[in-house]
Amino acid sequence: MELIAGIDAGGTTFKCGVFTARGEILARRRIPTLAPEETVAACMAFLDLEARARGQALAGLGIACFGPLDLSQSSASYGSILKTPKAGWSDYPILARFRTAFGGPVHIETDVNAALLAEMAIGAAKDVESAAYITVGTGVGAGIFLNGGLVGRPSHPEFGHIRISRRPDDAGFAGVCSYHRDCLEGLASAHAFAMRFGDPEQLAADHLGWDLEAYYLAQACQTLTLTCRPQRIVIGGGLLQAPHLLPRIHARFLELMNAYLEYTESAVIELIVHAGLGEDAGLHGAAYLASNAKE
Ligand code: ZN
Repeated sequence: MELIAGIDAGGTTFKCGVFTARGEILARRRIPTLAPEETVAACMAFLDLEARARGQALAGLGIACFGPLDLSQSSASYGSILKTPKAGWSDYPILARFRTAFGGPVHIETDVNAALLAEMAIGAAKDVESAAYITVGTGVGAGIFLNGGLVGRPSHPEFGHIRISRRPDDAGFAGVCSYHRDCLEGLASAHAFAMRFGDPEQLAADHLGWDLEAYYLAQACQTLTLTCRPQRIVIGGGLLQAPHLLPRIHARFLELMNAYLEYTESAVIELIVHAGLGEDAGLHGAAYLASNAKE
């Protein structure tokens, strides 16, 4: 039986997994995101230990990585993290470092693109030809798959930083994006949510914060729909753990569209959905890269 490895490399945690070639998880570990070299070493120690315990080598490694990333194959810094507020990680050649440490084929993609590919292969978008995946965590990002491929090559979209309309009752909040203050991420990330309303897990389902969040995420879905017309928009990330958020997004989306394109409630429920792979979309995406990406 062939084994592969996947890493969902996030700004807070690196989730590592060992998989069968068919994508079943055999072992997993969360490693805190520390300094780059320390984090890479901890990930490799886990993968080596798991492979040794099973008496097998790992045939490939996929990395679903936080961005921004250099994904231009002709670039000298292909597979490097670009300028990021995450201390110590700007210009870090993460792909090159893992290739050296792993010693076999290693493939990299943005975390949201990888999650999108996994959702289209085995998750909530497996029955459609075009889809987008939005993650709402510490940051906000989206991957888009249209016309048979990922959008934005040789780079990737930076959808989290689009400008959105602010709701008047939120005018007192500056926003948390260190570049733009009140872009989508600046207003709707889990970080922005917690700054205004505290721990989402402690918040009642009818708290006004949820409706504000839904209003902003509905704008994101509206922009995706009016530009790319994906057949499905999958939303994942920590804040979507609250089960009452998605129905509010549906309601706000219908209001914002205001009968344009004649979306019905049932069509919107089919259009905007929870991640089928839940919190593991990125990790499954990493395994998908290891299994499917070309050398
Ligand atoms: Zn921004």
